[in-house]
Amino acid sequence: MALKLVQPKSQGRLTQDEFLERAKRSFGQEFWEYWIIYLGVAPAVCPKCKTESIRILRLADPSRKVGRQIWSKWYLWCQSCLHGIYCPPGTYFVKKGQPYILWNDRKALEKNLPKALKLIRPAGF
Ligand SMILES: [Zn+2]
Repeated sequence: MALKLVQPKSQGRLTQDEFLERAKRSFGQEFWEYWIIYLGVAPAVCPKCKTESIRILRLADPSRKVGRQIWSKWYLWCQSCLHGIYCPPGTYFVKKGQPYILWNDRKALEKNLPKALKLIRPAGF
């Protein structure tokens, strides 16, 4: 699952709750609330406007693979109020069948990402 992928090996003994709690302290509450939607831990409801308008855009590089998984970064935002986040440091992958745009395709990025996106930055970065 996604959790395993973003969890550093040195923290392998943390429970999911401890892991999430640590991430909350690290990212800050506001960023974290969107991040856990990406992980699938929280329902896809916008923490700010409470609508179910969450969108995810994955940027992937098929030349960077780990096993059969493709390396990716992503944006997650609310289409309604346009608050969202860009993925924090860590390794993420596109799962089989998930749509994505190419990592270096700027035109596709401009086309798919709302121009008025209000990005929330993680507190510790
Ligand atoms: Zn919203």
